[in-house]
Amino acid sequence: MTAQADMLGDLLARNRDWAAARTTAEPAFFTRLAGEQHPTYFWIGCSDSRVPANVVAGLNPGEVFVHRNIANVVHSADMNLLSTLEFAVDALHIREVIICGHYGCGGVRAATEEFPHGLADHWLEPIRRLAKTYAMDLAQTHSPEARRDKLAELNVIESVRRVSETPIVTRAWARGAALRIYGLIYGLHDGRLRDLDCTIGPGHFLPGAQPSPPFGHKVDDERMT
Ligand SMILES: [Zn+2]
Repeated sequence: MTAQADMLGDLLARNRDWAAARTTAEPAFFTRLAGEQHPTYFWIGCSDSRVPANVVAGLNPGEVFVHRNIANVVHSADMNLLSTLEFAVDALHIREVIICGHYGCGGVRAATEEFPHGLADHWLEPIRRLAKTYAMDLAQTHSPEARRDKLAELNVIESVRRVSETPIVTRAWARGAALRIYGLIYGLHDGRLRDLDCTIGPGHFLPGAQPSPPFGHKVDDERMT
């Protein structure tokens, strides 16, 4: 048997054990989920294997609808993300949208490096632009790692703003939906999710509404030490 076959066999064995344990804990678990899904959350996160949405949020299958890409970038014309967002909001009626970045993100690191990374350089362009826009703020951090982590936070906050400005979300708010978009960041070093306090909800763009200061929030000093 080849090494690849061994690995696949191991994966299938793990799946059998998992499915059996689930069925033992709740005999109707898969029957219930097979009928339809009613997830509470829509999660936009990084593809990094260390930040799986269900696991780090302690959620079961069926509880979170997920879109992931390198460095959790929200491109305003990304049909993959937009069609997933539309399905989440309009068909699944999800009202809690989470953008989750993470410290130690390789995509954010690549966006700060000068040598080429292939297609990723096109994908990461919004992060490069953020780095230029907030170069003075970023320069106040005490190390390259802290600078990248602050940039990862800024990327989440920018992504929250971009999602809030999509026609999908503004239409939902116009219909009176209590849709909220949250920005979180995950620490690889401690497994904790942190709220970046950049939530945008209904009324944010109404005349007279006070927009939240997307880039005025406090940096996670605890993480930077
Ligand atoms: Zn990442």
